[in-house]
Amino acid sequence: MIEVYSFPPPTVVRVPIAGTCKLFPVRRIFCIGRNYSDHVREMGGDSNKDFPIIFTKPADAIMADKSTIKYPLSCRSLHHEVELVAAIDKPLRQVDEDTASKSIFGLAVGVDLTRRDLQVEAKKNGLPWDCAKAFDQSAPISAIKPFAVLPASLQGKIELAVNGKVRQSGDLQQMIWSVPQILSRLSDYFELLAGDLIFTGTPAGVGALVSGDCVSASIAGVGNLQFQIS
Ligand code: MN
Repeated sequence: MIEVYSFPPPTVVRVPIAGTCKLFPVRRIFCIGRNYSDHVREMGGDSNKDFPIIFTKPADAIMADKSTIKYPLSCRSLHHEVELVAAIDKPLRQVDEDTASKSIFGLAVGVDLTRRDLQVEAKKNGLPWDCAKAFDQSAPISAIKPFAVLPASLQGKIELAVNGKVRQSGDLQQMIWSVPQILSRLSDYFELLAGDLIFTGTPAGVGALVSGDCVSASIAGVGNLQFQIS
């Protein structure tokens, strides 16, 4: 029997790879919350060394650099969170930090768009974060810069500006959990596979976006990302 789809299957979500004409096909998006203590404090939380919260977004939440993003449905408070993103191109299953640090494909700049009003509500009621985090167009990302091996100590300015005014400014050194630590711990729960992206948390300065805002985000040595809210 010939199998035929009843409608065309979705196209593969892809992210450009900086300096090449190749594309990175996206499989899943994992995200880590509460990974910079100044942001944990601004959200009214307690900064400790407990492993940060893990949540996910669908792969098709990805938006390319220079996109126009629709102000999300059913939202009264859309927040920006600039984040370092790690891209994986091989299986990682219960790996240690050393293996993880030698197993990444590359790094990118991402923004974890958040419906903060719905997140506050979910937290208050002990409910999942899907409506707050996993909505359409919620994961704009820059081109991926290849890094076969992570630098021993990741450092560099991570910044986000809205309409030219800096809102978030931190340094990758402030991350409570390093990229290898995050990948190692995630690989205890999930077999990470080629195409997986991991958003690694945001520094302080998160705030609201409104229609018409132009957002520009950057991480030194990694890349730049711009998008507009319509
Ligand atoms: Mn985040």
